[in-house]
Amino acid sequence: MPETKSVVVAAPRGYCAGVDRAVITVERALDVYGPPVYVRKQIVHNRHVVEDLEARGAIFVEELDEVPTGSTVVFSAHGVSPAVHAEAEARGLKTIDATCPLVTKVHHEAKRFAGQGVQILLIGHAGHEEVEGTTGEAPEHIQLVQHPSDVDGVDVADPDKVAWLTQTTLSVDETAETVTRLRERFPNLIDPPSDDICYATQNRQQAVKQIARHSDLVIVVGSQNSSNSVRLVEVALEAGAKASYRVDNASEIDPSWLVGVNSVGVTSGASVPDDLVQGVLDYLQSQGFPAAVEERLTEESLTFALPPELRKDLRARR
Ligand code: SF4
Repeated sequence: MPETKSVVVAAPRGYCAGVDRAVITVERALDVYGPPVYVRKQIVHNRHVVEDLEARGAIFVEELDEVPTGSTVVFSAHGVSPAVHAEAEARGLKTIDATCPLVTKVHHEAKRFAGQGVQILLIGHAGHEEVEGTTGEAPEHIQLVQHPSDVDGVDVADPDKVAWLTQTTLSVDETAETVTRLRERFPNLIDPPSDDICYATQNRQQAVKQIARHSDLVIVVGSQNSSNSVRLVEVALEAGAKASYRVDNASEIDPSWLVGVNSVGVTSGASVPDDLVQGVLDYLQSQGFPAAVEERLTEESLTFALPPELRKDLRARR
């Protein structure tokens, strides 16, 4: 007798409070100021979201020197360093800061530790915009630690004045391993006041672990440059999924992945609109799989107010 096929979709998945706020910020900025509105870097790491906002009149740039003087520019959810704020001011740009408040919290922690003369070991990925922004708060005091294996190479002036911070979108388990190794080297290692890996990252990793345990295949919807989406694939494999792949949308699913597969789990990163997940579920149904059943780990209710500079201009229009 053939085995029964099943599709389980994880919850929470997709948009987090910081991404929701950042995307709405660009939409409202386009309403208030009219196109074009410039956005430094991808507002969130999702190709579809960026293309959709481009179609509405947003112009994405890598650096501020691409923004004409006097224009409005939005800073992405990943945050920027003080040097970028200073450059915008010097260039006479109107800025709207869509940095996620949970990233801003890490910036404040970095400034506070640096102000106390504490050396900061920032666990994160080189080149990620969030890491560049946080490092820019106190470049003289911050060293990047990318993997547990980097710990042996860390060099600090005073081993009793060392703290750790993290990027918000890391693997919870791998970060715990890095911190354990850091504490073995620096027994007086100072902890951040609260967890830097954000609630959305943690919830999505826990939820994918739950579905991975009983999935032959886990499909993660998310872009290649989305740190938290890439982590979800790693977490699914570590939790027991026989295979796991990341796709930007349903068209990237290779039909060979489904051969011999009975149970499919589906989830998405924090920057992914849910219609892309629905596209994957529709595709699976077209391939003979049943409608998906949602497996929910927890409810999320956090929301963030829009940036104050935008709220002020929205009020003035009423
Ligand atoms: S993943 Fe976390 S830190 Fe990043 S935007 Fe979302 S809520 Fe903010």
